[in-house]
Order: sequence, then C-alpha cells, then structure tokens
Amino acid sequence: PPLGEPVLVVRGLSVRFGHVDALASVDISLREHSVLGVIGPNGAGKSTLVDAISGFLPQAQGEVELDGRPLTGSPTRRARVGMRRTFQQDRVPPRLTVDAYVRFVARRRLTSQEIAEALEFFGCPPARTPLSWVDVGARRLVEVVGHLLARPRILLLDEPAAGLPHEEHVAFGERLRRVPARFGVSVLLIEHDLDLVRSVCDTITVLDFGRVLASGPQAEVLANPAVLKAYMGE
Ligand code: ADP
Ligand code: MG
Repeated sequence: PPLGEPVLVVRGLSVRFGHVDALASVDISLREHSVLGVIGPNGAGKSTLVDAISGFLPQAQGEVELDGRPLTGSPTRRARVGMRRTFQQDRVPPRLTVDAYVRFVARRRLTSQEIAEALEFFGCPPARTPLSWVDVGARRLVEVVGHLLARPRILLLDEPAAGLPHEEHVAFGERLRRVPARFGVSVLLIEHDLDLVRSVCDTITVLDFGRVLASGPQAEVLANPAVLKAYMGE
C-alpha cells in the first residue's frame, strides 16, 4: 500500500557527548500507519535518536515535529501529545500483575476486555499473571501493550525483541506488522535482527557513527552496497 503522510519528522538532529558526535545532523521521517526500521552497528546512535525524540536529552539540537507541530518539552509533555517509547533496558517494577503493569504504563482508564484482547494479540501471558512469573522478553511485550493501549500517535521501540528467544521473533514480527492498522499508531523500530526488520518495516534508516548512511523503502536500503558493507563490518 502507498505510504501515508509523515507523522514524525526529524531534521538536523545533533547530539554531542563530550567529544563524541552521537548524532550529527540526522533527518528521519516516519509515515502515517507505517513501521520505520532504524538499524546500524552498536554505538551508531540509535538509542540516542530515541532519547532525543522523546525529550530525554535536552541538549539535542535540531527540529522534531509530530503532526506538523514542534515536539518539545519534557518526556511527560511529549507523551501527552502522542509520543510513547520503550527503553533498551528492562524497567519493569516488581510485584505487579500483568494487568496492573499494563494500566501503569498506559496511564488511562482501560476495560479488562481491552487489556485481555491486546495481551492475546501480542501472545502475552493472561492479565492476572504475576509479572515475576513472566520472563524478561515477554515482560517487554507487556510494556508494549501498555503503550499501545495509551493510543499514541507514534511508538518508538528500542530493541523490543532483544529478550525474546530467537524462535519467537517470527511471531513477534507478524504481530508488529499488524500494529499500525490495529492500533492506529506509527512505529519506529530499532532492531538488530535483519530478518525481523525485513518482515516488518516499510522504510529503513541506517545510522553509522551518528550519521544517516541510507534511508528509504526497505528493499532499496537493504540492497544498498554501502549498507551491506557497514553490516559486513569491513
Ligand atoms: P546505539 O544505540 O546505536 O548502540 P547509542 O545511541 O547508545 O548507540 O550511542 C551512540 C554513541 O554515543 C556511542 O559512542 C556511545 O558511547 C555514546 N553515548 C551514548 N550515551 C552516552 C552518554 N550518556 N554519555 C556519553 N556517551 C554516550
Ligand atoms: Mg542502543
């Protein structure tokens, strides 16, 4: 299907840590109801990109727009206008049930049925399960469910499949591919597993040393010699 209008537009985003240019004038565009893959070697700046878009790095320079309006201010403010994100590290508070955790993440009123259906959609354990019984990979999916039920405009996922056994990546990819249509959200996905990226993403942006190495429709980007070279580690 044709890609929709840009929902999230980033222009000239730069972040320095001391002498390191973690991001150097990065442009990205995430289109309505699509999944944008952000890939690149370790240290390329992928997590920094999500941190800057979500307001965790006040020193970031450049423009970030959501639905044509500047996306500025604290992470909480950005969340209020439709931006949600996950973190690369597991941040699940202990001693909650799956249900309580979904509600905690979503921060809005939800019916038990909405929660049950979304958990089932993502292959998560049932609502009453204590989180302490749930392994780390599935806990991160429960967090994703909470964010989706907040009905954001955009969801930024920082390696959401990292804790999942590899054999579960295919099922996760199939579900993630259906997320934009089902939840009315556009997704930015940081992911190492290129098979997963290939199965889910409409467009891809490749970062390397804080710069955009390539960007565009997935087939085009994955066939780009410069991208192949960066991935072969030459
Ligand atoms: P990726 O997620 O692609 O692996 P990161 O965005 O985590 O990469 O890191 C990009 C670069 O910025 C790396 O060189 C990393 O060491 C550096 N960096 C990230 N966060 C910090 C920080 N808080 N302080 C200093 N340097 C950082
Ligand atoms: Mg990272």
